[in-house]
Amino acid sequence: MHHTDELILHLLKWYDSFGRELPWRQKPKHHRNKKAAIQQVLGNPYFIWLSEIMLQQTTVKTVIPYYNIFVKKWPTISLLAKASLEDILVNWAGLGYYARARNLHKCSRIISMDLNGNFPSSEAELNKLPGIGPYTAAAISAIAFGLPTMAVDVNIERVMARMYAVSQPLPKSKKKLSDLASGFISNERPGDVLQALMDLGATICKPQKPLCDLCPWAWSCRGLVIGSPANLPLKTPKLPIKQRFGYAFWIVRKDGAILLRRRPDNGMLGGMIEVTSSDWLENESMNIETMSYKPCLAEWKKLPGSVIHTFSHFRLNLTVYAAQIDGRKLRGGSWYMREQFNKLALPKLTQKIIEHVDSASQKVS
Ligand code: SF4
Repeated sequence: MHHTDELILHLLKWYDSFGRELPWRQKPKHHRNKKAAIQQVLGNPYFIWLSEIMLQQTTVKTVIPYYNIFVKKWPTISLLAKASLEDILVNWAGLGYYARARNLHKCSRIISMDLNGNFPSSEAELNKLPGIGPYTAAAISAIAFGLPTMAVDVNIERVMARMYAVSQPLPKSKKKLSDLASGFISNERPGDVLQALMDLGATICKPQKPLCDLCPWAWSCRGLVIGSPANLPLKTPKLPIKQRFGYAFWIVRKDGAILLRRRPDNGMLGGMIEVTSSDWLENESMNIETMSYKPCLAEWKKLPGSVIHTFSHFRLNLTVYAAQIDGRKLRGGSWYMREQFNKLALPKLTQKIIEHVDSASQKVS
């Protein structure tokens, strides 16, 4: 038997017993006749697509509760397509990378209305849909349609780097690791092979402490032979994360309503609800008295401390000012009572500002 085929055999045997139970996943089918081959059960394309979009840049643990809410509320793609963007954003709030939610909305409408509710099966056609890149297209194609292909995530990169003791650091080694993973494209149960590799990386070949004693590939792992597989993959040191600074203005009306506004649809946190804020600048030298961002004249109180939020490519440090004003009209926002907040699409950043204000007022009272 070819060495790769033997590795796949060991991997699938391990997966059939120890693969993760995930809400979007179909476990392989075992026959009553124990000698008959186990078959891949194709996943529901809608569930696979939804989970793969949510899993982009996000951990399985974080995704599961969101996924469960979405499939309960919108059990089919046609129901999701009928939902408003606002409703999708409210239910996505806290999951981050909100362009994903906007693309989810667009994509559901294209599939439901233009494609009669049917997902295309080929990677090329999937790749044309909003929010679906090469990785997600390959994952849907293999898992939901059983087509032989490979989608290489960070887990699979790590397994390949260790199995083949790849000494070139990431990100330069990406192509090499992807080529190595492509060697495991299988005509038999391609989706299960892919999910087994993902699981091997996530549960056994873990980033810090790989559990080599439990690994179905330990007998063939070059990283284990040369020692210290945990040091692989090597990584080119990252540049320090950039800092951004800004101000948020917590404006309370006499009746207790808070002024909030909707961010523009395009761009960061697009379509989400925020506290009135300044631009996010590279230096901290702005001054509350001179800055042009003040939304209105008021007795502004600077709250102690600041709100720190890390985005993928910079860390934001927000100073929060609070003021109470009378019932006068202000442009660029709407007033909400606190009990309405749970119906709004509040991203993590807005939630942190609210917590910051609450903790400051508890200290005062
Ligand atoms: S033997 Fe260890 S390092 Fe090698 S693939 Fe398995 S878990 Fe990873």
